[in-house]
Amino acid sequence: MVVILENNATEQQIENIVKHLEDYGFQIHRSSGVQRTIIGAIGVKPGFDTRKVKILDGVSDVYRVTAPFKLASRSFQEGNTIIKVKDVEIGGTSIAMMAGPCSVESEDQIFRLAKVVAESGSKILRGGAFKPRSSPYSFQGMGEEGLKLMRAAADEYGLIVITEVMEISQIELIEKYADIFQVGARNMQNFSLIRELGKTSTPIMLKRGLSATIEEWLMSAEYMLAQGNKDIMLCERGIRTFETYTRNTFDLSAIPVVHKKSHLPVVADPSHATGFRDQVAPMARAAVAAGADSIMIEIHDDPENAMSDGPQALLPEEYKTLVQELNLIANAIGRKLL
Ligand code: PEP
Ligand code: MN
Repeated sequence: MVVILENNATEQQIENIVKHLEDYGFQIHRSSGVQRTIIGAIGVKPGFDTRKVKILDGVSDVYRVTAPFKLASRSFQEGNTIIKVKDVEIGGTSIAMMAGPCSVESEDQIFRLAKVVAESGSKILRGGAFKPRSSPYSFQGMGEEGLKLMRAAADEYGLIVITEVMEISQIELIEKYADIFQVGARNMQNFSLIRELGKTSTPIMLKRGLSATIEEWLMSAEYMLAQGNKDIMLCERGIRTFETYTRNTFDLSAIPVVHKKSHLPVVADPSHATGFRDQVAPMARAAVAAGADSIMIEIHDDPENAMSDGPQALLPEEYKTLVQELNLIANAIGRKLL
């Protein structure tokens, strides 16, 4: 931590600041220029609240040098984390596609869409059985029945299942049917939920919160890693900004930033990030170019009557075309689509 003092900090204030830092367990390096004194406080204290120093008299600014997350950081683990789920790898050279409806709606629907996913060569079936909806009056998902249908459809077509877990009480149930847990944007900082999920050995995809900084997002991943689950992937799904022509703002730059700061794989979800069908393919192409390790796409064959998120769902043929385009882009950067 670097502590920059006010120009006019008195010797007494400086001594007080130094004493506080030493009491917190830091080693101190003081350097005094003509105008200002700068104090280097050395010591790894991941949870330290820098405001404790910022409020001391005579302090102008405080900067953290090391990131507050440890297990998630690139300095902790240099090589990329590769998550193996059955015969699929996420985080390696292949880019794994995840596709399916927003919600599981019926047996017929999920089997039809699982077939589309498999025919496209994709390996991971998405679909919500427990839905986090902004309105309590909207469709809330089929629950366990939806999980059963999704598992059956995935097994029929040799696919892997990813589905959202919203509450601690659902963990055991969902683990029976799913291969990857999805933590939704609205639950990114549900610390009791993510801590419990961290105790499982099922891979987890952690979506970025609607207004979460990248650091907060990585801190939530840290919660799960600290509990022992090493198979954590992060999913950029758009953040809330002042823009209204898109549902959210797709923060593409988060992809290279996370790759630099962390060894964890990054999934991109252009469906929720944009909210409109015509924006999904361009942003999916951009996400592959930006280095995403996996792309999640919502699809539907009757989007007009979809129970949720119909306007952002790609039609089966659109998805198949997109997969081919993404493969070309992946090839251009030394990767391939899965
Ligand atoms: C979803 O994937 O269906 C979903 C609800 O996503 P998010 O949590 O990103 O809104
Ligand atoms: Mn959705």
